[in-house]
Amino acid sequence: MRPGSLLLGAAAAWGAYAWGAHLLTLGCVWRGPRGGGRVALTFDDGPDPAWTPRVLDLLGERGVRATFFLVGQRAARSPGTVRRIAAEGHEVANHGWSHRSLWLCGPRRTRIEIGRAHDLLTGLAGRAPRYFRPPWGMVNMAMFPILRRYGARCVLWSIQPEGLRPRAADLQAAHVLRRARPGAIVDLHDAEGTPDAPARLLAALPAMIDGLRGRGLALVTVGELVGGAPGS
Ligand SMILES: [Zn+2]
Repeated sequence: MRPGSLLLGAAAAWGAYAWGAHLLTLGCVWRGPRGGGRVALTFDDGPDPAWTPRVLDLLGERGVRATFFLVGQRAARSPGTVRRIAAEGHEVANHGWSHRSLWLCGPRRTRIEIGRAHDLLTGLAGRAPRYFRPPWGMVNMAMFPILRRYGARCVLWSIQPEGLRPRAADLQAAHVLRRARPGAIVDLHDAEGTPDAPARLLAALPAMIDGLRGRGLALVTVGELVGGAPGS
């Protein structure tokens, strides 16, 4: 076989493994049921030793429980923060070991990314994470059987107020309030990915929380939104 066709074959195989797998994200959780008047706030990329405690303080003051999709490597560096997240009734969920895109991970590396974080978070939170969010929402074919083995579901989001481009705090709150419907899953970031994202998040959160509640929406964890009764 000529090098050119070998390259084409490899590109086609990778395309099916990475892009093709995105057809399967139809089987991921993008939102919860439309009945019930509930919305889930989710926080990615932590724990951050400086920002996550401030987010927890704010959620505690307002009596909100949320879901934290934690990066394993960061959780290993801030174990006390992970324990605090769990102790305060929030849901600890898995965001991979190193935040590497699954598009760049073969099956073996995908198992390590999911499994290592799963084991560490289970030990710290005292309960196995039931939800996994792939970094940047990028999946591959290997992810689905691995998640089944760990009893976890892939969770994406229906509202993302700040994507790759920074958006001012007041605009983020307005964006969420404009789009929020019962069942929505809001994707937020309590650690640096986009520069200064946690600072903008902290500024946006009070208006976001009060605005959602003002519309009669209850703020719950992902487990409560999609998995049945509170605390289940
Ligand atoms: Zn992330």
